Amino acid sequence: MPIVYPHKTAMPCADPEERRRGWIEVAEGYTVERALAEARRCLNCQDPVCEQGCPVNVPIRDFVRRVAVGDFEGAARTIALRNLLPAICGRVCPVEHQCESQCALVPRQDPVGIGRLERFVADWERANGNGGGVVAPEVQRDQKVAIVGSGPAGLTVASDLAQLGYPVTIFEALHAFGGVLRYGIPQYRLPKEIVDDDIEHLKALGVEFVRDVIIGKTVTIDQLVDDWGYSAVFVGTGAGSPIFMNLPGENLKGIYSANEFLTRVNLMKAYSFPEYDTPVGRPKRAAVIGAGDTAMDGVRCSIRLGAEEAHIVYRRSEQEKGARQEDYERARDEGVIFDWLTLPKRFLGDENGWVRGIECIRTELGEPDASGRRRPVPVPGSEFTMEADLVVIALGTNPNPLVPRTTSGLDVNAHGCIVADPPTGATSRDGVFAGGDIVTGAATVILAMGAGRRAATAIHDYLLQRAAGKAAPADERDAWGPLFFTSF
Ligand SMILES: Cc1cc2nc3c(=O)[nH]c(=O)nc-3n(C[C@H](O)[C@H](O)[C@H](O)COP(=O)(O)OP(=O)(O)OC[C@H]3O[C@@H](n4cnc5c(N)ncnc54)[C@H](O)[C@@H]3O)c2cc1C
Ligand code: SF4
Repeated sequence: MPIVYPHKTAMPCADPEERRRGWIEVAEGYTVERALAEARRCLNCQDPVCEQGCPVNVPIRDFVRRVAVGDFEGAARTIALRNLLPAICGRVCPVEHQCESQCALVPRQDPVGIGRLERFVADWERANGNGGGVVAPEVQRDQKVAIVGSGPAGLTVASDLAQLGYPVTIFEALHAFGGVLRYGIPQYRLPKEIVDDDIEHLKALGVEFVRDVIIGKTVTIDQLVDDWGYSAVFVGTGAGSPIFMNLPGENLKGIYSANEFLTRVNLMKAYSFPEYDTPVGRPKRAAVIGAGDTAMDGVRCSIRLGAEEAHIVYRRSEQEKGARQEDYERARDEGVIFDWLTLPKRFLGDENGWVRGIECIRTELGEPDASGRRRPVPVPGSEFTMEADLVVIALGTNPNPLVPRTTSGLDVNAHGCIVADPPTGATSRDGVFAGGDIVTGAATVILAMGAGRRAATAIHDYLLQRAAGKAAPADERDAWGPLFFTSF
């Protein structure tokens, strides 16, 4: 029986004081020595239960085994069989709820640091490998596929279909590609050079990227099919429509939805105003409402923008927060103040219409509500006022409504999510497929990628059937496997 060290090999991080002053990446990644040490904690299980927790079925045991013997190139090839965005997933996947939660070492020991090892391998490959090269598809097909939205769902569909020889066009409403990877997740968690590299790789595969096109306004899905000659459409428009509190004063200047705030900071580079022309203001005292991943991103950005005090205001307790433990701890190390059991009642402004504070009330936790978490109950007479000149509302998002509203025959559910068959992404409209947050509501990068992967398979099947007027021959459908040796 090998000796297993009980704790995960630590991830070196930049000093919190240095982090507060800039946008450098916080987690510095494993060195070779640390990666070897961590990979050697793996038991190399006969039944690798960790893999059941991975939505895209990365062969975890096999890649970790290769890392353990120093075969980093082999490890990269193994991951690339199933995951097109390992440098991204290795940084942002909530592994503690996925693969690592299933690891056989739990609960006696820490799980193997699968996410950290995936990042190490992807970074090693970016620095030392050949990027997987670009392999031209064996067949060139003529049925065009349109993809709406360039988030992880759309990028995955594009990659898979381009490798099968389809002409693929991604239409993106914004001026830059990557979806939340680009405009939502800050640079200090996910350097944008990584997203750029993955987009470039797709371009090299032949994927056409068209920006500043809002499907549903500039052109509709019906027009893409009827007038522009697309044989199939994938909708991956995400869940970027913010939820507000509907409290008095919410329209004051200086109050943003998290999506607007993060878009200004990350995409429009508001931190370099006036070099870039979108301002966001230099806060003195920031308050971010909510305690999920987006709230942590908002509050940590406000610190980097120069806030002397940055608060998380949350109506429940620390136990109910939605943020990843790792990001929560890093926010705490950077000096974020957590106001648990605190509920905003109204926003207070000055004579010029700028926010200056929040009237709040303390809460205590009652019986569980529909979400299974204990309901916050206001404590009578506990009202107080907190100062704030920047408020970010990070209470979650709804699916973007434009495409469903402008596409005839496309069914949505009560939450506004497009109704799609889970194994295929097929919608109520023939030839229109959907996946990612627009179907599930706000979820994760890896789930969006998994949905994209399944939809690409289904679109391939659909187009083969349309071309042949009959079921796709099995040998055509099986032509997938070898293509995925190409890394993204
Ligand atoms: C701030 C923030 C932090 C997050 N952190 C994490 C994390 O750490 N780990 C994790 O796993 N997940 C995280 N998530 C969630 C994750 O990013 C999403 O689940 C994932 O990006 C969903 O992918 P998607 O492709 O479905 O949509 P998106 O990434 O939202 O991409 C949709 C794209 O479609 C475009 N679009 C929308 N409407 C149209 C239209 N009409 N025409 C053309 N284009 C359109 C949008 O501009 C966007 O680029 C985070 C989310 C946010 C907001
Ligand atoms: S379950 Fe854990 S120990 Fe077993 S193969 Fe997977 S990572 Fe290694």
